[in-house]
Amino acid sequence: MERNTQKVLGYNVDILSFEEAINNVLASVNNNIGMQIVTINPEMIELANRNKDYANILNNAELVIPDGSGIKLALKLKGIKQEQIPGIDFTRRILEKFAENNLPVALIGAKEEVVQKAAANLQKEIPNLNICYFRNGYFSENDEEQIINDIKDKSPKLVLAALGAPKQEQFIFKCRKELNNAIYIGVGGSFDIWAGSVERAPKIFRKLGCEWLYRTMKQPERIKRIYKTLPMFLIKVIIEARKINLYKRDKNV
Ligand code: UDP
Repeated sequence: MERNTQKVLGYNVDILSFEEAINNVLASVNNNIGMQIVTINPEMIELANRNKDYANILNNAELVIPDGSGIKLALKLKGIKQEQIPGIDFTRRILEKFAENNLPVALIGAKEEVVQKAAANLQKEIPNLNICYFRNGYFSENDEEQIINDIKDKSPKLVLAALGAPKQEQFIFKCRKELNNAIYIGVGGSFDIWAGSVERAPKIFRKLGCEWLYRTMKQPERIKRIYKTLPMFLIKVIIEARKINLYKRDKNV
């Protein structure tokens, strides 16, 4: 499928609506084509700037959803209007679509009691959801081969990895080599929310693009992550946007 992407600091971001993103995934499922979906945010971009392998994984993903409000802002500075697509809402809709078609789903990540509760809640809330495999996200690199084999045995059509960045994208990259016709999404802290152990930000925060602020208030340990990445990210995107605007002015485009 033709993609419409834009670069943010050198990383692909798909420009599309929520519905287009869903339809894009369903088209791949219908054609039995696997894909890695990244729900990108400024933190991931800063991680990729320091890790070339991770940068390659991000740029080779078949779909990159503009998840963070920092990404929306970066695109806006470049003159591109793009709605923010929260990864958790997008993934939830994908789960519903997979349930409607009785396609098996695997969940990998979060603490044992969290993934168990998330699986049970999803099963209750989404009729006909077929969870063929789940396990917690606390394993060593030595266990990965076994876990990937276990997943492969169950042949899920959708694999959700909630291991945080960059671990989830790296795990997906490895898993795809063994099971390449599944849809993979790195979903960050979504299992914690589905399990009810972390509260989703109220609508007003989400509407204003301030979900990150609410999450930081609730989990103050996140401040360290934000102040380490966000200021630098913003400075870089402002410089990038200025360069583009000067270029456009000089070329009269
Ligand atoms: N996690 C995991 N294994 C690890 C480290 C983290 O399964 O080795 C889980 C953690 O329990 C949490 C998720 O990964 O459920 C990361 O959530 P975070 O809030 O950091 O992700 P974000 O939504 O900010 O991307």
